[in-house]
Parts: sequence; C-alpha cells; structure tokens
Amino acid sequence: MAGTRIWTEIDYERDGKQVGWLYLHHSVTRSAYGELMIPIAVIKNGKGPTAFLMSGNHGDEYEGQVALTKLIRSLEPDQIKGRVIILPAANMPAALDGARVSPIDQGNLNRSFPGDPDGGPTRQIAYYIDSVLFPMADLYADLHSGGSSLDYVPFISIHECEDASINARGMEALKIFGAEHAIVWAANKDARYSTNASTLRGVVSVGSEFGGGGSVSVSSVRMVERGLLNLLRHASIMVGKPELGPKPTRLMVVGGKEDFVYAPEPGLFEPFAELGQWIKKGDPCGQVHFVDNPARAPVPCFYKNSGMVICKRHFGRVERGDCVAHLANDRKA
Ligand SMILES: [Zn+2]
Repeated sequence: MAGTRIWTEIDYERDGKQVGWLYLHHSVTRSAYGELMIPIAVIKNGKGPTAFLMSGNHGDEYEGQVALTKLIRSLEPDQIKGRVIILPAANMPAALDGARVSPIDQGNLNRSFPGDPDGGPTRQIAYYIDSVLFPMADLYADLHSGGSSLDYVPFISIHECEDASINARGMEALKIFGAEHAIVWAANKDARYSTNASTLRGVVSVGSEFGGGGSVSVSSVRMVERGLLNLLRHASIMVGKPELGPKPTRLMVVGGKEDFVYAPEPGLFEPFAELGQWIKKGDPCGQVHFVDNPARAPVPCFYKNSGMVICKRHFGRVERGDCVAHLANDRKA
C-alpha cells in the first residue's frame, strides 16, 4: 500500500463489519519491537460510495470521539450500502494523552499533511490517511472541537478549494448536516490541514468545531450524532431523509487575519464580549492585566473587522501572540 510502513489486518474490500487496528512500528527502550495500535473500523455492504469519518485528529477535542466510538458499536452492514471507514482516535497517542499534539513527537496531525512514511509517528499517520484512506473516500468528515485553549460556537465547516464542483458538493453537505451554524473557511488554504489535503485528493470534505475547552457538550454530541447520519443519508450510504436540527442552518464565513485578534502582551486576559455576540470594527476585544504589577495600566487589543465572535480563548492566562478571539460573518449561499 503506497510507501506507508503502517500495516493492518483489516481488508477494506471485504463485506461485513471489521473493528481492528492500524499498526505503526514504534521501537523504544521498553518495547523493542513494539507497535502503536490505532483503532479503525470498516463497515461494508456491497458496492457504493465510501464515507471516511475521523476524530481525534486533535486528542483534546471530544464530541467527535464520543460520537464515532458509539457509531462503531451501533452501525451494522445491513443498515448501509457502500462502505463506512471510521478512525475515531486518528492521532491515538494525543487522544490517550487528552492533548492537541502527540506526546511522542509533539506532532500536530492537522499541520502534518501530506505526511511522510519515514517521519515520526504523527507524520506517518498523516501519510497513511493521505495516501491510503483519502483515495478510497468519496466523502470525508474531520470532527474537531476547538481544543483545550479555545471555545467555539459549535459549527460544521468546509475549506474552500480551487475546484468549484468540490466546493458546491461541500456546500450541500454543510446544509444537510443540520447544525445551527455552518462556516466556510474562505482564506485558509494551508495544505497541511487534513480537510485541505483531502480536497487536493478530490474528496468532498467537511470539518467542524463542536465546542472546546477540553469538555464534552451534551447538545454537541447529539448534533454530531444526528449530523453524521444525515451525511450518510445524503451520500446514499444510508436510506431515509436527513433529520433537520432544532434551528435552521445559518451560513457564515471566516476570512483572513483581519478576523483574528491576538494577545498584545503576556498576562491575564479580560475579554469584553461573549461567544455569539456581534461587535464592530475598532471595538476593544479585551485587555491584558498584570497581576504581578497592578500599578501598570492594562494593555487593550482591538477588532480589525466587524462580525460575530465565533471563537474565544478558553484559558485566562495568555502569552503574547495567543489568539484571544476570532470572528465570522454572514455569507450568502
Ligand atoms: Zn482541532
């Protein structure tokens, strides 16, 4: 299989339900011939499209990991036509560590595509996903939740690419998912991100941020579970009509650096707006306090654009350069 060193006992062409592992050779002092075992499931029934569903790209983002772990146990071949590949803990060492990056190589899987078969574990995982799993997929979902340091208004998303037909099919998937907010990342073309890498392989993909702060939201888990089944119905892998969410989907867009605000100094950040609040260009975003030198005046930072606060920093303490907020704006379909 391509140049990957990762191997598996899973047969991607076999009908039925297989739950097993990808084996990534990892030779260390305590285990000379050891393997990192990354869980994977394949549910297949005859010919048809393939959906590839992934979570644990960042280990500290949990709603997708909960939903996909449950889906592996509940989804049976007779419920589908085609194939569903599920990778619930893609960067498994990070997922077990409850961390964004791998404790083994400090690798951020979502900045590691297209990966490297001779790289560290994180880049080897990216290479396997890019060279083995993406070519099998018609539809790809990468489930994120902000991570420990950020809080998000929950949303489903796409990264716009150069291919208009992939963008159009991505927009259909966005609307069918049933989330209250759907985001188009208009400026981020960084091919080290999995969803951008997948579009380069011709795969229609959706990303997401379903919450944050390293927590698990009851309503977001419900939204992800409903949305995944909607995607499978939309792809004709499952029968039935997509189930609408409690509110209609609001389509929004995140632009470039003008939508992001960064901490101007290290210290304690006091935000001035809550998630979901609309602000105007030039409004103060917040200010950094110096609790170890309280006579020093706080240092403010300002929004460079108008919009809705869709993301806020979760932790109070900041270093200079930490993202403290970013915006989204309404977008016509
Ligand atoms: Zn993430």
